[in-house]
Amino acid sequence: MLGRSLREPDFETKSWLRRRMSCPPPVLKLISASPFIHYTKCRGQSLGDLDGIPIAVKDNFSTSGIETTCASNMLKGYIPPYNATVVQKLLDQGALLMGKTNLDEFAMGSGSTDGVFGPVKNPWSYSKQYREKRKQNPHSENEDSDWLITGGSSGGSAAAVSAFTCYAALGSDTGGSTRNPAAHCGLVGFKPSYGLVSRHGLIPLVNSMDVPGILTRCVDDAAIVLGALAGPDPRDSTTVHEPINKPFMLPSLADVSKLCIGIPKEYLVPELSSEVQSLWSKAADLFESEGAKVIEVSLPHTSYSIVCYHVLCTSEVASNMARFDGLQYGHRCDIDVSTEAMYAATRREGFNDVVRGRILSGNFFLLKENYENYFVKAQKVRRLIANDFVNAFNSGVDVLLTPTTLSEAVPYLEFIKEDNRTRSAQDDIFTQAVNMAGLPAVSIPVALSNQGLPIGLQFIGRAFCDQQLLTVAKWFE
Ligand code: GLN
Repeated sequence: MLGRSLREPDFETKSWLRRRMSCPPPVLKLISASPFIHYTKCRGQSLGDLDGIPIAVKDNFSTSGIETTCASNMLKGYIPPYNATVVQKLLDQGALLMGKTNLDEFAMGSGSTDGVFGPVKNPWSYSKQYREKRKQNPHSENEDSDWLITGGSSGGSAAAVSAFTCYAALGSDTGGSTRNPAAHCGLVGFKPSYGLVSRHGLIPLVNSMDVPGILTRCVDDAAIVLGALAGPDPRDSTTVHEPINKPFMLPSLADVSKLCIGIPKEYLVPELSSEVQSLWSKAADLFESEGAKVIEVSLPHTSYSIVCYHVLCTSEVASNMARFDGLQYGHRCDIDVSTEAMYAATRREGFNDVVRGRILSGNFFLLKENYENYFVKAQKVRRLIANDFVNAFNSGVDVLLTPTTLSEAVPYLEFIKEDNRTRSAQDDIFTQAVNMAGLPAVSIPVALSNQGLPIGLQFIGRAFCDQQLLTVAKWFE
């Protein structure tokens, strides 16, 4: 069974409030803010689309008067004087800011395990079905240490929605950070087209790929939040003037017989779990049996995407992180021997190993003698990767159907094993290329694994055809 089967076994009641009362133990790391602090709407004002709707925000979006840390020592205590455009738009529509959510430090990671506040627990670790399965496993650890990662880096936002503490949450998506945790937490995770939603106030990871992402329980909700957020912003020159129909209501697709679904053959990688693979082909069969045309397509440069992303990401990181010098924002060490010594010690104390590692790699790729060979070459490969998608869509494909992650969520203790760290980069194989091409993509939950854990599949659309993409995803939901 696909799609709707996810509503069982723990979350069978339809009522949101009843669901909320039977939710697993609280898992969200509320970093700052208490609920409702921003709800200062005057009486008599007209209601916005999100009036009274609790929404959580990843802690890499600036929130006026509320600490914004990026889960890093470097920004502990930093209180921005302004709201990110997307936060302001949510508030303008009447949304209640529930809190700021945990993440990997500066959104670098795929597990939500590497922030200074500690890892995020996946609420599905406590589902009845999963616990029973684990009990049958003689090697399983005790319940306290035997829990699953949420995926990342927007894991706090995913946990918040998954545990019924809010209707929707903002994540950010640079290489999959909204879609990956959505897949692991049984949610819809939507990455809009690059340029459709403002990045102003989103603390940058990779400016040319970052996009604010949306996590919700269903596709319709994601579309409504997108309607509130989308649109040009004079404070972000990369936003485009695409016409958006508001409110952003999705039509119900009666039939899919006019659709052409592309299945990228290079996405069938050896690391893909057999369960995800079988769901992926069942989903393709479902479209076919309902009359859609399903064809195999080729995205020939897929195998270069992880390495290409690494070079471009770390290069932009090296440049972006230069602003954290102990003078302007957040942390400053006590050393006052010299300015250089202060810079170095501040950055050593402020950043974790992952961030420091990326700054080092990026600076290496940007060295005068390496720039052409690495950075410029990676930019050319990025163009080839983006063109692969253009060619697929030009051949008549409306949306691509792919897995979101290689497998279901893994236990934390397994994830942090040293030899699994490289696997974690590999886990972005289905999501990163989309960011390099600037396309919209959505992960939706399709079924539970044998372990009782959610598995998501991803739909990828043409640039700025976000509404068409979500309409197809809604049909499948
Ligand atoms: N896992 C990827 C990285 O660590 C993507 C992160 C993201 O999308 N924020 O760079």
